[in-house]
Amino acid sequence: MAEILKGVPVSNRIKLKLTEQIASIGQTITLGIIRVGQKPDDLYYQNSIQKMCAAIGMHCQIFEFKEDIQQSILQAEIDRMANDDRIDGLLMFAPLPHHLNSAELANRIPPTKDVDGLNVYSAGALYTGDQNAFPPCTPAACLALLKFYDIPLEGKHCVIVGRSLTVGKPLCLLLLNENATVTLCHSKTKSLSHQCQQADILITAAGKANLITSAFVREGQTVLDVGINPDPEHLGRYCGDVNFAEVAPIVKQITPVPGGIGSITTAILSQHTFEAFQKKNKKT
Ligand code: NAD
Repeated sequence: MAEILKGVPVSNRIKLKLTEQIASIGQTITLGIIRVGQKPDDLYYQNSIQKMCAAIGMHCQIFEFKEDIQQSILQAEIDRMANDDRIDGLLMFAPLPHHLNSAELANRIPPTKDVDGLNVYSAGALYTGDQNAFPPCTPAACLALLKFYDIPLEGKHCVIVGRSLTVGKPLCLLLLNENATVTLCHSKTKSLSHQCQQADILITAAGKANLITSAFVREGQTVLDVGINPDPEHLGRYCGDVNFAEVAPIVKQITPVPGGIGSITTAILSQHTFEAFQKKNKKT
């Protein structure tokens, strides 16, 4: 049976360090959350971020807007937050209502405050290796977990399933920066099971419950399951992309869902906000 790589010890270590650092600085560090409308998913995520911030002594400020807000008004509001020195990091919940141009709005957030690394400037910085921006939190959480459990990356073959802008593509660059050899698979990849079997480290972010079965894995592999999907067998519960019951007895290490990568993401968000504060103060 595989070693279970839990996310909670990883996030606890990050939280503990941040709590000490924030207490020793004695200044207010603020994460701003931009939320349009009242989507249950956004409210759930907001709640978990607020809890995280409260636990480590970080200030979390919610900027809430009505669902029918006009592009120009939201843009002016974001510009104001971008120029407000009291706000260290900004996170805009997505997707936004269809009448809004999300990319244009996200690009108003300066890379120094774009703590979920999702706008075009942050993506460019990740691509070029510029350290003045942040990678998206979920791929950064994958890296944090691999480092916490001392899983070497140099020269290893990492296979990623999923090429989204939030997970797969940025993760590919982060792993390349660690000198891994990366294969990026997606919905049009031929012989996905064969590709997955070649991996030393297999990371799945496809959003498809039970996609990865015993036929996709072999002994000795490390498997990170980023997927968070409604569990088809247990109404109201969540599962990953990996069929855990089939895969865990075969591979060397595996992350659970829930309790794996997802539990590290908000800790990384706070860490990025703290780093944004530090970088701002270095400049002044
Ligand atoms: P997305 O829909 O934007 O992208 C999914 C990707 O998977 C696409 O690139 C697609 O080509 C690929 N894909 C889909 N079906 C496939 C198949 N059958 N075979 C091979 N590739 C396939 O999704 P996303 O936003 O990247 O999220 C992916 C999953 O990760 C979701 O379950 C989501 O809930 C989860 N997620 C978790 C966290 C976290 O913190 N743990 C954060 C973001 C997303």
